[in-house]
Amino acid sequence: MPSCLVIGAGMAGLTAARLLLGDGWRVVVLDKGRGVGGRLATRRIGEARFDHGAQFITVRDALFQQHVDRWLANGWIAPWFEDGGHIRYRSEGGMSQLAKHLAVGLDIRTGVKVESIGYSSGGWRASTDTGETFQADALVMTAPPEQALAMLAGCTGQLDPAVLEHLQAVEFDPCFALMVVAKGPGLVPAPGYFRPAAGPIEWLADNVRKGISGSGGSALTIHARGDYSRQRFEVAPEEVARELLEAARPWIGGTVDAWQLHRWKFAKPVSGPCLDSLYSEVPAPVAFAGDGLAGGRVEGAFLSGVAAAAKLSESPVAIGREPSTTVE
Ligand SMILES: Cc1cc2nc3c(=O)[nH]c(=O)nc-3n(C[C@H](O)[C@H](O)[C@H](O)COP(=O)(O)OP(=O)(O)OC[C@H]3O[C@@H](n4cnc5c(N)ncnc54)[C@H](O)[C@@H]3O)c2cc1C
Repeated sequence: MPSCLVIGAGMAGLTAARLLLGDGWRVVVLDKGRGVGGRLATRRIGEARFDHGAQFITVRDALFQQHVDRWLANGWIAPWFEDGGHIRYRSEGGMSQLAKHLAVGLDIRTGVKVESIGYSSGGWRASTDTGETFQADALVMTAPPEQALAMLAGCTGQLDPAVLEHLQAVEFDPCFALMVVAKGPGLVPAPGYFRPAAGPIEWLADNVRKGISGSGGSALTIHARGDYSRQRFEVAPEEVARELLEAARPWIGGTVDAWQLHRWKFAKPVSGPCLDSLYSEVPAPVAFAGDGLAGGRVEGAFLSGVAAAAKLSESPVAIGREPSTTVE
């Protein structure tokens, strides 16, 4: 049975891991986050619940539509609103819930930060901040390319040079996500989102109207534009929050009771190839996946995970079914 390490339990990693497991691989998924989902992220402040990463799922691809139809039938997601001919789906209970459903049956170790990955004994060896090592025949890497290359720093020279070049070309914009609990109903119009035409805010969502937070007050997610987030990324959170709260004032109903600021360093890819995934057979099979390669949306991350699993399933370790090194 071939073995694979998957770095990242976001949509790309979970998708690849599920497919590889179904194809007979032994799979371990490692993620530094407290839970699964990556940018499918939901947080609570008291009774209020916020999606502070991806806001919704859209579908253009037929294969992704099949999976979305299944998630709908399972009650995991539901339509939120339609815009420009595309339904926007939200996840019941918040976007991280979808990731939790997809994680069932997988061997996932969360709260484990991979510090370095090197070629070892014909496969890959990952060393973590918990002092553990994980060894496997193959690797699926779904962290944003800049982070991926930092983990692989000791062996980037051994990767396929074309793969390395593509990875180095991927750049992300950061994004501030400000979560705000306020008294009274928020002033974001139905169905619960607004895109201001100017200013630092790109997107406001009312998580109560969205249907994922209780109705005791308002629970707003405010996403800043990429240029603002880039310019202000190192500024103190209090100052950023003050500026964003000021800009959001027309949509906040009552007094602000609480806020939290999350800084997404790698929020949305802004340059790089749109290739679905990348594969290098040297020094050992490794597939790179994630939205950074595939278009910056949940759908892209999903399709990238599918492509990564397909590439590994055609790799020598899969076809030869060579003996596995242990994953533990
Ligand atoms: C603010 C915001 C709004 C968005 N809105 C939308 C939207 O409305 N619709 C849409 O389709 N998309 C949206 N997106 C994009 C969408 O969230 C992503 O395309 C998708 O979730 C990416 O999935 P992924 O698996 O490629 O990456 P991620 O979800 O980022 O997963 C990568 C994982 O790798 C882990 N990792 C990284 N380094 C290490 C390490 N050293 N050790 C262990 N684990 C590590 C991370 O913890 C993370 O969980 C939004 C993104 C942001 C940030």
